[in-house]
Amino acid sequence: MLDAGLEVRAFFTTRAGGVSQPPYDSLNVADHVGDDPVDVARNREIVARHAGAPVTFLTAEHGIAVARISRPGELAQAADALVTQVPGVALGAIAADCVPVLLHDGATGAVAAVHAGREGLFLGVVDNVVASLLDVRARRAIDGEMSASIGPAVCGRCYEVPDSMRARVSARHPSAFTSTRGGTPALDLPRAIEARLSQLGFGQIVRSKVCTVESPALFSHRRDGVTGRFAGVIVCE
Ligand SMILES: [Zn+2]
Repeated sequence: MLDAGLEVRAFFTTRAGGVSQPPYDSLNVADHVGDDPVDVARNREIVARHAGAPVTFLTAEHGIAVARISRPGELAQAADALVTQVPGVALGAIAADCVPVLLHDGATGAVAAVHAGREGLFLGVVDNVVASLLDVRARRAIDGEMSASIGPAVCGRCYEVPDSMRARVSARHPSAFTSTRGGTPALDLPRAIEARLSQLGFGQIVRSKVCTVESPALFSHRRDGVTGRFAGVIVCE
């Protein structure tokens, strides 16, 4: 488990410490990738024990939908971000190259878990989840009390995309524009998310320097194809 560096309990899981067999070894938390459902359920229990609360995992649809969770262990509708202000609720964002982002509002205690992939970022999932956190505040402006932790994801040097795709995404998120080691078009999603959160007024932003494609300790869909998923987990206290 990698500590997310926030004031509340928040962490990113790795491949280690679970029960799944290859190619899902071992702490796969996703139930949509072909792994044994019994193993996935046991892995989720292991993660919940570490969180100290039952975890509501999101089911990403690569859009901008935000689901509000009001009970510990509540099942979430398909959404790319989960938000809660209820103490004892733990939220989990599943990813393997896409970017898991955990948010905490020190003013209200509200927390959010976000799955930010290329398409979700382009469509505005970061702005949408921050709007939901502001709703909890009765729309009061951001004042520096919001903090964020951007988890392990594919880095800009590894995320090669067609030139047209780089142009489309970086038109909206200029800091996403980058190139691979070989000089071909690429996108830096973690950097773009950090830049957007900074523009929105977040006081503290922690960004993991771990690249999922380059780290054998993490699941990478881009590297391995059929594989598991890890999670960013945050607990409302
Ligand atoms: Zn990389």
